[in-house]
Amino acid sequence: MFFAWAFGLAVSSLNAQTVVSSPNGELKVEMNDKDGKATYRVLLGQDVVLEESPLGLVTSAANLSEGLKIGKVSDAKTVKESYELRNAKKQHISVEATEQTVNLTDKNGRDVLAVEWHVDNQNVAFRYIVKEHARRLSVLVTKEETGYRLPEGSTSFNCPQMGSQSGFARTAPSYESSYEWDAPLGKNGWGEGYVFPALFKVGTKAWVMLNETGLGANYCASHLQNAGGNLYQIAFPNPKEFGGVGTSEPGIALPAELPWRTITVGRTMKAMAETTIQWDVVKEQYPASQNYQYGRATWSWIIRMDASCNYDEQKEYIDFAARLGYEYVLIDALWDTNIGYEGIERLAQYARTKNVGLFLWYNSNGYWNDAPQGPKGKMHRLIDRQKEMAWLQKTGIKGMKIDFIGSDKQQTMQMYEDILYDANQYGLMVIFHGCTLPRGWERMYPNFVGAEAVRASENFSFGQDENDREAQSATIHPVLRNAVGNMDFGGSTLNKHYSKDNQRGRTRRTSDVFALATAVLFQTPVQNFALAPNNFEDAPAWAMDFMKSVPVTWEDVRYIDGYPGKYLVMARKSQAGKWYVAAINAQKEPLKLKLDLSFLCKDGMMQVYSDKVISTDDKGWNTFEGGVKEMKVKKNLTVVVPKDGAAVIVK
Ligand code: CA
Repeated sequence: MFFAWAFGLAVSSLNAQTVVSSPNGELKVEMNDKDGKATYRVLLGQDVVLEESPLGLVTSAANLSEGLKIGKVSDAKTVKESYELRNAKKQHISVEATEQTVNLTDKNGRDVLAVEWHVDNQNVAFRYIVKEHARRLSVLVTKEETGYRLPEGSTSFNCPQMGSQSGFARTAPSYESSYEWDAPLGKNGWGEGYVFPALFKVGTKAWVMLNETGLGANYCASHLQNAGGNLYQIAFPNPKEFGGVGTSEPGIALPAELPWRTITVGRTMKAMAETTIQWDVVKEQYPASQNYQYGRATWSWIIRMDASCNYDEQKEYIDFAARLGYEYVLIDALWDTNIGYEGIERLAQYARTKNVGLFLWYNSNGYWNDAPQGPKGKMHRLIDRQKEMAWLQKTGIKGMKIDFIGSDKQQTMQMYEDILYDANQYGLMVIFHGCTLPRGWERMYPNFVGAEAVRASENFSFGQDENDREAQSATIHPVLRNAVGNMDFGGSTLNKHYSKDNQRGRTRRTSDVFALATAVLFQTPVQNFALAPNNFEDAPAWAMDFMKSVPVTWEDVRYIDGYPGKYLVMARKSQAGKWYVAAINAQKEPLKLKLDLSFLCKDGMMQVYSDKVISTDDKGWNTFEGGVKEMKVKKNLTVVVPKDGAAVIVK
């Protein structure tokens, strides 16, 4: 259903309104052109979840945010599509959405801009189509007015944009800041706004998640800037990013389709946890050169750090992977000097005899950071990159982890895309670290595996605080960061301490069952788990058995319950048809859950992993005794999840 009133010049003081409705009519966008400004608002049922918010942009040739009038509006059409993703949180995806394009004319009545809407029952997606204007066929976009005005009293759960050329060796921004929890509107992070995806709680009525997708070399990646009060606007990268190289302002050839901006809306976080909008509106950019095989990996660096990057310990981790039945080993920084290219060739050959494949780490560095770790200078320039990739392919290496990129500029986005495209030519999968958020990449680039873009497991090694809030952070990732893209977190530690001898180093606060729960809750199709060879002696056998069999590719996802920062209950279904339900608790009080498991089966035997608290120290940290029981479950199951503990049910 849509309404469009066309007004002549004589009545131009009145404003036209266009409504785009989701197929079930529950989610609606209203677009207006009052006083020459294009605006929109979003309603869920009767509730306004985004108030009148600005649209439009400014290019190097014209201001396309003023003097606008709604012109021709296309007929609303319902689009239906099904597609498959083997590498993401959901495998069989069906789309049903209303699509409608609203043209905007300038004060001379010329078509200069259009807004294309794609509205399904839980998501609003829109993008600009910038037409030829001011006799130009190419322009820079110097500013976007695009904004999101949250209703009064909304609160936010967002990560501040990191300062440009800050952090370790000038490698930021890299989406590795901590969350603000239930924070009032009006703040602007650390001065430069907040990264995508951004989450807002709108009173007691709704949740809203903002994101963008369909972004490669076509534009810069953007973030949100608080523009005063309740309004957040699209902001471009800081000019200092990428060593100051490349513009902050994206260049476009006209006519141009800009990236999709998405607004996910729900009464609970179910809409966010289960959304596929980031893939629904994008297209595969090139076909996969082969049938990429996903799997689990061991990774020495997270527990043993730089010192472990030597031939013998990497061989030990290959044996460890083989003993676990894992598919891969990730060899992290410094292998070029400590193992050498010839040593890697021998390790790859050895790994092959054990049915294990290798991923190798690279420093992305060209000219934009001071990170000294090698190998560097191999990935940023096409000639060097293709030479390196030819060696990787010849050596039988399966993929790369490329680190320290730290920029959202269009030039950087171009590099991400070029690396992915080249890697596919050489049959290589790619994981990015110290990087931007993937924006639709699981579908766009078939050899893309995952990205960090989260305050990930390395921080457990660096600081105790991060361990102290491990459970709190874990309750939000699956419904926010990981909900929009594969997340290379590198977790599920079973060591008590982050060190080789498992005696010294930072202390893990969470239970062993919690480690298993995050193996389910945190999703990416090649999981670099933080297990260590000593875990066969010092971790419970039931935990190691679980980690041996846990899948990394999923058919489906189901949100059950939660509150960001407090607790989370979610389920994933493996591609082999097995359900894994995982619950974690970050609150002081034990969480008593009565789970309706009728979606698993009417009744039957299930494996239930749960925690008992053995003792609590004077600071409130628990010591746990975990275990697994075969239980006959009839529809409902009651479990108690202690602070920093978990429950996992497998059927
Ligand atoms: Ca990192």
